[in-house]
Amino acid sequence: MANDPDVVVIGAGFAGLYAIHRLRERGLSVHGLEAAEGVGGTWYWNRYPGARCDSESYYYCYAFSSELEQEWDWSERYPGQAEILSYLEHVADRFDLRRDISFSTTVVSAAHDGDGWVIDTEDGGRWTCRWLVTAVGCLSSANVPDIPGLESFAGEWHHTGQWPHEGVDVAGRRVGVVGTGSTGIQAIPVLAESAGHLTVFQRTANFSIPARNAPLAPEEAAGYKADYAAIRELQQASTNGHPFVVSDVDTLALPDDERRALLERAWERGGLRFRAAVRDVLTDPAVNEETSDFLRSKIHETVDDATTAEALTPRDHPFATKRPPIDTRYFETYNRADVSLVDVRADPIATITPRGVRLESGAEHPLDVLVFATGFDALSGPLLRLGIRGTGGQSLADAWAEGATTYLGLGVAGFPDLFTITGPGSPSVLTNMPTSIEQHVDWIADLVAHLRAHDLEAEPTPEAQAQWAEHVREAADATLLPQAASSWYLGANVPGKPRVFLPYAGGFARYREMCDAEAAAGYPGFALRARQQAA
Ligand code: FAD
Ligand code: NAP
Repeated sequence: MANDPDVVVIGAGFAGLYAIHRLRERGLSVHGLEAAEGVGGTWYWNRYPGARCDSESYYYCYAFSSELEQEWDWSERYPGQAEILSYLEHVADRFDLRRDISFSTTVVSAAHDGDGWVIDTEDGGRWTCRWLVTAVGCLSSANVPDIPGLESFAGEWHHTGQWPHEGVDVAGRRVGVVGTGSTGIQAIPVLAESAGHLTVFQRTANFSIPARNAPLAPEEAAGYKADYAAIRELQQASTNGHPFVVSDVDTLALPDDERRALLERAWERGGLRFRAAVRDVLTDPAVNEETSDFLRSKIHETVDDATTAEALTPRDHPFATKRPPIDTRYFETYNRADVSLVDVRADPIATITPRGVRLESGAEHPLDVLVFATGFDALSGPLLRLGIRGTGGQSLADAWAEGATTYLGLGVAGFPDLFTITGPGSPSVLTNMPTSIEQHVDWIADLVAHLRAHDLEAEPTPEAQAQWAEHVREAADATLLPQAASSWYLGANVPGKPRVFLPYAGGFARYREMCDAEAAAGYPGFALRARQQAA
């Protein structure tokens, strides 16, 4: 029926596209609502210079179709934004997904009326459905800092997650970048190549590993294609969805020269594989300190000016407790005469003036272009922006006033027939996300098919949800992750956001097993109610 499918899926990135495909396969009618003008999600929005993935191309992709795996050719170890976007556009066309997606359609509210969901969109549209599946992403709510005077800036400013499609002309201009997370670290070297002068406003120095990007040689690409079955098996058995076997070497037991040689080999291999070479790096403080020291020494080896090198050296958090960036010539960029580093921890940004950025000391940095690489209101942010109301009109914002809690990251008590792909409490951002996304979607599709077959509605029980919240907290506390006080994993990057460790740190394989056990046992963590009774 028009505007009344069985399922509405919000979002058309990796998650939404696969959800539409999979739910269709289960015989459900599905419609997608997407704020953007096209598919792609992250890869539609993040068009900043240098944007590319950190997962490697051969596994930063879907695994559900072996034909798709075989027919798509990746050009690089880490493809850029445009290539990933064209992959997702290809997926949308190949599986004929666009016919069931309304683009330029932003959801502003979604309320459960006791029978199903009523969804309102910014353009005045209304959709009804029995099951609501959110595929709104973990990193899709841009976080623009509330700095006084921004509206007075006479130059142009942009957030990297809302980068203009036509690009931004920085050639010969004075460009400022606020932020040195994964995004800033990717953008800074590329912006420096064309800017007249680049000023980096750094609050927290970050670790970064060289990506070692390179074109994918045809024989390497063919090798991956031939090995896909084994690669996928490794991913499914891994803690983070990457197909790397974590080293079993006890690095602390090695003599100093062998340990250094092991770290040097990992450094040369580069990318996210670096972490897999160091067992226990996220659980053993001594291992982490050794590794952090190694990485700090690399910064000092790379950056010519000792004061700048020290300012770029992270000393306030252990390696990998904030999402570790990977880079191409990031630290080398500070050796350029036309790049300067400003420590805004020591001298914070006070205001934006018509001319540029003024610090608390009164120092002013004149700029033509200001780039906010300041991240996202992660995980809970995109869900809260949907204006969701559940049983009795309770808002999700109220339910999460003390912090976002879910059951398995997949559903929320008090919100029947709502399923959240990579919601808070899921492994999501601690994993290779397409792997987690496919697992979530398959699991949700099975549950929805079960509910339809038995005419049931489902929502997590408060008890199951409370236990899961406790388990999420324990899993984080078993690692060093909570030690990064300013991490977005904790919500610390958004003023006023409750400090709750948001993703599940217990590992992808373990999580998948728990989800499978939940389904096999008939969904004991969910209240399953007959629809007539519920109505
Ligand atoms: P998204 O791609 O974020 O899509 C969500 C969609 O929902 C968006 O299109 C958005 O417009 C839409 N939406 C949100 N709210 C509404 C609303 N109210 N109404 C309508 N539509 C709405 N992960 C990795 O595993 N490896 C990587 O290498 C990697 N690289 C990344 C690089 C960058 C620059 C960023 C920002 C993230 C990266 N990630 C990476 C994480 C990345 O977000 C995921 O890999 C993946 O793309 C998420 O897909 P998704 O469909 O869940 O969400
Ligand atoms: P981020 O990691 O949250 O980093 C934001 C940066 O902005 C931090 O350096 C932060 O400093 C700084 N900042 C924020 N507000 C500020 C303010 N008011 N004044 C000064 N500095 C401020 O955001 P991100 O770099 O966009 O990355 C977010 C996540 O997206 C990543 O962790 C990753 O998961 C994903 N991502 C992935 C890739 C990839 O895989 N290729 C690329 C980009 C992004 P503090 O540290 O002091 O808060």
